[in-house]
Parts: sequence; C-alpha cells; structure tokens
Amino acid sequence: MKLYEFMGKQIFARYGINIPAGRVAASSEEAADIAVELGEVVIKSQILSGGRGKAGGIKFASSPGESKQYADELLAGTLKGLKIEKILVEKKVRIDKELYLSITVDGTTRQPVLIASASGGIDIEDVSPEQIIKKYIDPQVGILPHFCREVSRRLGLTGELSKQAVELITKVYRIFRDYDCELVEINPLVISGEQLVAADAKINLDDEAQFRYPAGTPITEDRTALEKKAHDIGISYVELEGDIAVMANGAGITMATLDILEHFGGKARNFMDAGGGADTEATAQALEILISTKPKVILVNIFGGITRCDEVAKAFVKVKNSMGIPVPVVIRLSGTNEQEGIAIFKEIGFDSFDNIKDAAAKAVEIAKAS
Ligand code: GDP
Ligand code: MN
Repeated sequence: MKLYEFMGKQIFARYGINIPAGRVAASSEEAADIAVELGEVVIKSQILSGGRGKAGGIKFASSPGESKQYADELLAGTLKGLKIEKILVEKKVRIDKELYLSITVDGTTRQPVLIASASGGIDIEDVSPEQIIKKYIDPQVGILPHFCREVSRRLGLTGELSKQAVELITKVYRIFRDYDCELVEINPLVISGEQLVAADAKINLDDEAQFRYPAGTPITEDRTALEKKAHDIGISYVELEGDIAVMANGAGITMATLDILEHFGGKARNFMDAGGGADTEATAQALEILISTKPKVILVNIFGGITRCDEVAKAFVKVKNSMGIPVPVVIRLSGTNEQEGIAIFKEIGFDSFDNIKDAAAKAVEIAKAS
C-alpha cells in the first residue's frame, strides 16, 4: 500500500526527521491561508505516484494569490491520470544540493538494502551506477553507527551534516522496521545550509502486515471500484487491459494462466485468484464480476485440490440460471471431482479441456475472431 507524501511526512515527523513546515489542503482557500503563514511556498499535488515534478504537479508560489491560483488549477485537474484530491502546501526550502536515500527490500537476496546517492532529484533514474551507494542490511544486526558513517562519508558529507545523516539513516531504518515497509524513500534529501531536509517522502507499506501496523498508521485506497468489490468478498483481483477474462484458483496458477495466454498471443483482462477452496457461492460471485467487465471470452483454469470441480461447475449453472452468461466460456478442469464437474458443465452446454494449453489456445482464437 502506497502512502501519500503528506502521510509519509507525518510518519517522518513522529520520528523527528526534519521536514519542511507545511500542511495539507483540499481547497484553494486553505492553500492561500497556509501561504499567508509560510510566505514563499511549494504546492505539491498529492497522488499515489511519483514523477510529479516532471509531470507539472509541483508548483512554486511567491504570494497567497499565486498559491490560490495554482491550487485551483491543480485541484481541478488530474496528474498522470489520477485525480488530485489534496495538495500539500509547504514552505519553499532553499536547495543547495539534492541527495537520494532509500531503504527497500531486495527480493533476490531477501534482505533490506539501503540505496543512496549524492545526485538525487527528479533525474534519479538517469544516475550512473557508479554514483549509487548500495549497502545491504543484516536484519539480525540492524543498522549500526559505523554503517551510517560510511554512507554519510560516501555521500560526501562532513561535520554537522554528517552527524545529521547518521541520525537520519538510523531513523529511516527504524521506520522501515516499525511500519513493515516495502520502501522508504527520500528524494530529494535536501542539503539546505547546515540542515538535511526530507523534501519528499515515499512510503510503501506491506499490505500483509496491516494487522500489526502501529496505532494511527494512515491507510490509502488504490484499488479500482471493481477491485475493491472483489477484495471485499475475499477475491484477489487486478484489472488489466486485455479482452480475455480469467478465473483461476490460486495465485501461482493464475500467473501461469496469464503467461500461457500471452504465449498464444492473447491478453488477459484481469488477474483473478478466486481462492483455493472457493465454493459455489464464492465462485458465482467471482464469475459475476468477470461478466460485468464485458470480455470477449472467459477462460477458466481450475486445478481441483481443495477446490472441488463440481462446486465450480455448479456456480456456472447458478449464474446461467439467474443472470445468464452472455459470453463464451472456455474451461480447463482437472483434479478433485473432475468427472462430476465436466458432466455438470456439459449439461449447460460448456465443453471442458483437460489441459490448459488447448484451453488457452481456444480462448485466444475466440477473442481474435470476435
Ligand atoms: P516528485 O517529482 O513526485 O518526486 O516530487 P518531489 O517532491 O520530489 O518534487 C520534485 C522536485 O521539486 C524536487 O526534486 C525539487 O527539485 C523540487 N522541490 C520540491 N520541493 C522543493 C522546495 O521546497 N524547494 C525547492 N527549491 N525545490 C523543491
Ligand atoms: Mn521526489
């Protein structure tokens, strides 16, 4: 789960990390009021995406009137396809230098890694590998002062700034651990005179750890309406761009199904893991969601382990009888109660395949022909 910049900065503030003075606003009047207090300000669009600077979502205003005008413009529009509901109005920090600092999880080595660079800012993607400092963190040991001092030295910091960097890195790692973060990123980390200031904040939390987030942790919703509906009934669902709706039971088999579709030149409309052990009711709800997306064909890939093939088939009968199934369905069924499932599907006129290759090829053929 991604947090908005202003939420990330609330967490930074709790840990005593230096952030610019400012407040979040939902109207241009509020933005103007904040600018009266702060003087020269930066108006920052709050969306769950980075790259706002390059996309025109960060504005500099030198008067409350100008703040109001920029706020009006931003709040009326979208940025990177996302509606701007809120803006962060902050005192403009004088920038002497922009650094980059983050801690994330390296999926390959399966441990936290600190990434830093003396060349931060909006062009961080273009920084050459030699300018990137990368240090793995042993989670059993955590971060020790000498670790931070080395990073600080390699960032070229000395004296007071180096002292602040050591404290900052320690705090960032503490946040990373305390909040079960997938990412804590400060870009740019600004040198402003004798101060290090976190001018931006990007925090991604691990959804699976929500049960133990610290009290008061902000929550965001980045699912689409349909994804949310599916999530609420216990189905993992992600909307995609293609025309072949996919239902499978288990995350691994779903991914494999999408890969096989791709292999045959097809494009999935969604990722849907209807869950291992889904019964008739849950499967019927899942099917209704797929039908509502108006695909050209629905591809069902069920490997019955805990899931019973006949339960799945009964769900199709149920939906067919209640609302109808207005799209072709291609089925691969295998596993528990396979024969019973095949027989039920046959009754409503659906043939099934016993292997996914043939089923996927058939689904692609139907999608291309229609
Ligand atoms: P992002 O593009 O979504 O990562 O948004 P950032 O918050 O990083 O802002 C983009 C750029 O705007 C930064 O790299 C800075 O160059 C600039 N910027 C942001 N805040 C300030 C500020 O307080 N003062 C100055 N001078 N520039 C800022
Ligand atoms: Mn940034």
